Amino acid sequence: MRTKQFKSESKKLLDMMINSIYTHKEIFLREIISNASDALDKLYFRSLTDPSVGLNADDFVIRIELDKDNGIIRVTDNGCGMTEEELDSNLGTIAKSGSLAFKNENEKTEDVDIIGQFGVGFYSAFMVSDKVTVETKAFGSDQAFRWESTGASGYTIEPCEKESFGTTVTMHLKDDTEDERYSEFLDQYKISQLVKKYSDYIRHPIQMEFTTSKPVEGKDGEYEDVTELRTLNSRIPLWKKNRSEIKPEEYNSFYKEKYYDFEDPAKVIHTSVEGQATYHALMFVPKHAPFDYYTKDYEKGLQLYSKGVLIMEKCGDLLPDYFSFVKGLVDSEDLSLNISREMLQHDRQLKLIAKTIEKKIRTELDKMLKNEREAYEEFFKTFGIQLKFGVYSDYGAHKDDLKDLLMFISSNEKKYVTLKEYVDRMKEGQDTVYYACGETVEKIEMLPQCDAVKDKGYEVLYLTEYVDEFALKMMGEYEGKKFMNICDEELDLGTEDEKKALESENEQSKEMFEEMKNAIGDSISSVRFTGKLKNHPVCLTSEGGISLEMEKTLNSMPGAKDNQVKAQLVLEINAEHPIAEKLKTLYNEDKEALGKYAKLLYGEACLIGGRRIDDPVEHSKLICELMTK
Ligand code: ADP
Repeated sequence: MRTKQFKSESKKLLDMMINSIYTHKEIFLREIISNASDALDKLYFRSLTDPSVGLNADDFVIRIELDKDNGIIRVTDNGCGMTEEELDSNLGTIAKSGSLAFKNENEKTEDVDIIGQFGVGFYSAFMVSDKVTVETKAFGSDQAFRWESTGASGYTIEPCEKESFGTTVTMHLKDDTEDERYSEFLDQYKISQLVKKYSDYIRHPIQMEFTTSKPVEGKDGEYEDVTELRTLNSRIPLWKKNRSEIKPEEYNSFYKEKYYDFEDPAKVIHTSVEGQATYHALMFVPKHAPFDYYTKDYEKGLQLYSKGVLIMEKCGDLLPDYFSFVKGLVDSEDLSLNISREMLQHDRQLKLIAKTIEKKIRTELDKMLKNEREAYEEFFKTFGIQLKFGVYSDYGAHKDDLKDLLMFISSNEKKYVTLKEYVDRMKEGQDTVYYACGETVEKIEMLPQCDAVKDKGYEVLYLTEYVDEFALKMMGEYEGKKFMNICDEELDLGTEDEKKALESENEQSKEMFEEMKNAIGDSISSVRFTGKLKNHPVCLTSEGGISLEMEKTLNSMPGAKDNQVKAQLVLEINAEHPIAEKLKTLYNEDKEALGKYAKLLYGEACLIGGRRIDDPVEHSKLICELMTK
């Protein structure tokens, strides 16, 4: 018989298991039971349409046997079993690529962490065993096979005798050491306690022979050992239990186990609905984004159960994209068990469920925002961008539902603020929500316009994510207050008199501005004086619908290369700054110099506004020319 080697990825995980110093080795039982339960589900599912299975719902069982004399614990199921090929590929290759991918990304993380915190599956048996034997017969097959391994050295597969379909996993426990007592897993009380702790909600009965000492009937004072078959689990799924009976730890460990997270969830949403759609839903908002969340591999969705049986692992239709971070499950009485994926998409009942679920998540986030501000801010840092995309996507169809869940960093104390909070504390007479865009809060604060707006006592929202401004534009306004980018040329904070004075000043210098614009070229659409700059000599503003930040974003999108968008830029010059007088003098005395100054000022404005200079070489030449004059 040939010994096969584990795939290299699997070997790594296996080595971790064998050499594990992890203290919660007991979780191996949960993993083995959970595999057995999955195998039962698969066959049960098949039995619904295939009478040849010949089993009723209650015939599917998991049996645990303890063989004290030989130091063996055995878990048997009458589930779907495995063919020889399945045995080879399922147990020779790691299935939970997730846990290893996570490990690679976080190489510093102790092994200990991932073992306890991810479900690590079948290999966890090697934390407590020095040899594992799997005997299995696939449903519908005549031949059974035995897989055996002592760990890292590889595994063997050979035909064997097995009467009926299903799988038996035999774990030969390691010898006790000074630090570890593996033999405790041969204790019936310990095992029933572990089943209660980790696998209570498993639908199928988990049975074990239990021996207790009982008084002999009719013989006073005499006791005898009685062995009976006991079902160790209560079989009520967590989501069907009453919320008041569930401890937070139960939710947390259920979440971590089932959805492979190492941290407790940020929020648990447990709901039971009766009416047009009847279902139980148990959902979780993770504390951190899954490692593949921002890759195309990430698939949103909730597990879909029908009357307690899993019918779909990831039902994407149950979650809108903006809540794609939510994990969990829905169990409905209304869905047919053997409904196909295609049919599900059009299922009226499912649509109804999805709608109420979306609303429930929204309400819960809203409550979190009101009652657990700190937790909400943490949540928003991680997943807020998703909500902003939600506002923007589908032509703004969801903007009203989501607008009150948004937060932005504000110029007030640089803390998160909601739009409602902003509007509620607006200065008297203020009719606009001001915002500014940039890569970072620090860079935004350097914008020349920023000081002027803050000086007037107005709060500014700092938008640092590229989707931010698109989301605000999609909303258009909030409670009747329009949004304005402080870099928009329409920003005008002056009084009526000041505005008039500026207007006439601009009118008088019209020809000078024309001269300057011509020198700079097509990069800008006009030049003018402004009253909104405090200390800075110049700034760039944009007119029309496309701001500077939007230009950057749109042009960096895939496919934008040949179709570049241009914001219409205006070079604004501080009318109060000495440079204004200088320009006027040059206009009268030296038009050539005026052109050079115009170019230089445009370059300065680009730099201050975080843009690249069109022609850095020319800019540098002009500066040197001026310096050496
Ligand atoms: P996971 O359960 O996450 O897929 P495991 O490493 O625990 O990962 O198991 C690998 C695979 O082996 C399972 O996906 C399943 O196909 C198969 N398997 C494990 N135990 C059983 C069993 N008792 N009956 C049938 N198949 C099983």
